[in-house]
Amino acid sequence: MKSFRKELFFNTKSKVEFINITDEVEKTLKESSIKEGLCLVNAMHITASVFINDNESGLHEDYKLWLEKLAPHSPISQYLHNRTGEDNGDAHLKRQIMGREVVVAITNGKLDFGPWEQIFYGEFDGQRKKRVLIKIIGE
Ligand code: ZN
Repeated sequence: MKSFRKELFFNTKSKVEFINITDEVEKTLKESSIKEGLCLVNAMHITASVFINDNESGLHEDYKLWLEKLAPHSPISQYLHNRTGEDNGDAHLKRQIMGREVVVAITNGKLDFGPWEQIFYGEFDGQRKKRVLIKIIGE
């Protein structure tokens, strides 16, 4: 069995942002030369997500509005977590809803997606350097 590891780096302009990382993951899969196996992609921070869904801008705005209704950023005093002096209590909750990681099957050297599936990095406390891990195992 072979394994391959790579990190992607992000420093978003906005606090909340979604970035399509499908091409980066496909590029990494080619580099690995693994043809059959599994590809794990996970955020390495507890205020960011990796998720799979449609590459449709309206949907992404819907996510932002929906998450802001569920866990509004302000007033920051509403979160016990912010008693630590941080202001990102909402970002931890948003990350939990959108998930930590995805696993995609690799078949014939390709990511074996369902219709319209794309991989996204979800940032909820951006404007600083963050990482995503890609780990590919198989043969
Ligand atoms: Zn925090």
